[in-house]
Formats: sequence, structure tokens, C-alpha cells
Amino acid sequence: MSEKTIKINLTGLDQSELEKFVAELPEIKFRSRQLFSWIYQKKATDFAQMSDLSLPLRRKLAAVAEIGLLALVEKSISPQSGSTKYLFSLQDGRRIESVYIPEKDRRTLCISSQVGCALGCRFCATGTLGFTRNLSAGEIVDQVLFAERDQMLEITNVVFMGMGEPFMNTDAVLQAAALINHADGLAIGSRHIVISTVGIVPAIERFTAEKHRYKLAVSLHAATDEKRVQIVPIARKYPLAQLMTALHAYYEKSGRRPTIEYALLAGFNDSKADAIALQKLLRSLPCKINLIPYNPAVAGFERPSPERVDAFAAWLAQMPAAVSVRWSQGDDINAACGQLAARTQERQ
Ligand code: SF4
Repeated sequence: MSEKTIKINLTGLDQSELEKFVAELPEIKFRSRQLFSWIYQKKATDFAQMSDLSLPLRRKLAAVAEIGLLALVEKSISPQSGSTKYLFSLQDGRRIESVYIPEKDRRTLCISSQVGCALGCRFCATGTLGFTRNLSAGEIVDQVLFAERDQMLEITNVVFMGMGEPFMNTDAVLQAAALINHADGLAIGSRHIVISTVGIVPAIERFTAEKHRYKLAVSLHAATDEKRVQIVPIARKYPLAQLMTALHAYYEKSGRRPTIEYALLAGFNDSKADAIALQKLLRSLPCKINLIPYNPAVAGFERPSPERVDAFAAWLAQMPAAVSVRWSQGDDINAACGQLAARTQERQ
């Protein structure tokens, strides 16, 4: 009776893992570098494309291994902004999404790190899905490989701001970020890779201790614990005092300013008193502040008027931090995190 071979998927393996795979074939070590380059630099989807490998080796590889972990389910392009939303199916049928955002001076891909999310932030569509599982490093990096092939362009910036909390899947996220950053891989500079967390303090401390050079963004959304726990339940576990201590330590040790993300929710955190509380909290932390007028995704939360957004930014004008307003793109294609997956899950 013949047993079906379970193939190893090479997408997501780093150089040392590829070396181990090649040694077990067995093949010479140099083949691992060729494979690394074909997978991450030339973005091959098939061993048949690997023209500098012999035909017998390509056949041998195809018998025991495969490349690629994502299948496209749906692609929506915003006629207004050109943003493209990808809905992918994973090998176990679960779904995740990525958003490509073209701008004048950059081409950004917003990627997912988990299927769903356990943290249940009240305003977030992904939070309403609950948590299913972590993505592997391969499933994370494949979102970038897929988008580059599909857009026929190089992505210049990657942000971990799609479905999931990256710092609840830290090992896989850091491995994927290293492959995205690797000079022989996707070669996207560390300053162009943003890891965005809602404030998982031990992971921020690890990020600091390990001296990662990616940009760190923290979704604050409220400047007092009392308010924050109402919309970000994990804030009960990691109150602002702990979070601020971790961010100060990050700045002191890395010399890098974290970015503070603040989603403006009409009538909840957009008053002058909220702006004053935010100033007080961040006064001594060198940082950048992004105000993000909420892209309505969950009932009960609305976007403030443009006048209120301008007023809130003006109330922060005294701060030393650079304050910018980021209007989210792709409202017409449900580009808020988790919205498309949430919608298709309902439909199924
Ligand atoms: S905002 Fe981020 S951390 Fe919060 S539920 Fe959504 S995906 Fe999870």
C-alpha cells in the first residue's frame, strides 16, 4: 500500500531552516541559498521556474516540497483610491485579508498576523470574529509575496495592522518580518516595516531587549485607564502606567520614537478633555501621534466630523510630538481591519 507523501512547505522557512531541509535531501548547502532567493526575491510559485537548478533536482523538490500557502478568494479594488483588498483562503480553509494601499511616494501592504483575534476591542470588526489561530511565518510573508506578484510592483512598506494582534504571535511575526527585511529576501528596509500592537507589555519589552529595528506603533485610543478598558479589554491586564514605562524604556534603549495610534471615535474620545489627557500622558515621551478618524465597522461607534478632527488635532498643537491625521483609505471596499473577513463569514 503506497503512503501519500506529506510535502513540506518551504514558504516561511529562514536560511537555517532551508539549510536543514537541503541537508536532509541530501544536497549541497549552496542549494539553500538558491532556494531562498527563488522563494523570497524572485517570488517563484513553482520549482519548475528555478532555472539554475538541474531538472532532476527540480523534480526531486517537487516530489517532497511545495511553495505558497495562500489561495485568493476575492479581490476588491477601490475606484477612489486604488486600494486593493485581498481575501485569502489558508490551507485549512480559514480566511485572512491584506490591503494594498498605493500612495504617491509609497506602496504599502497591511497584513494579518492571526485568524481573528482574542482581544475583542469593542470598535474592531476582527474583534467580533473571536480567535481561531495564529498564522505561521509563511502565511504572513506569503501575503507580501502574493501582493508583489499580483501588483507587478515592489511593495515599499509593510504594516502589521490587519487581522490579529501581532504581539500575541510574536515568534512568527518576527520571523516573517526578518524574511521581509532580509537583503536576499524581500529587502524591505526595517524602517519601512511597522509592527502595531494594542499594548502587550511583555512583548514590547522583548522587542526592546532584542533590539529589533522595525518601527513600533501602539494603538492607544484613550488616555486614561478608565476610558481605555471600555474599548480595549486587554488594558485591564496592561494598564497605562505599565505601558508607558515599557514605551519610555523602548525609546531610551533604541533611540527610536514609537508611533501612537489614536482612533477618533465620535463622542467617546474626541473632546477637548480627551486631548488634554492625551497631552498629559504623552508629554514626556518622544513619539509621533497618528490620529485616525474611525472608519465605521462596528455598530455603536461613529467617525467624528472633519471639523471635530481638525479641532482635536489643534488641541494637541502644543505638544512636542509630531501629530498627523490619517484618513483611512478604501472605505468603499470595507478596508477596516477584519471587515471583509467578517462580512464573508456572515455570508457563509
Ligand atoms: S484592534 Fe487589533 S487587537 Fe483589538 S481586536 Fe482588533 S485586531 Fe485584535
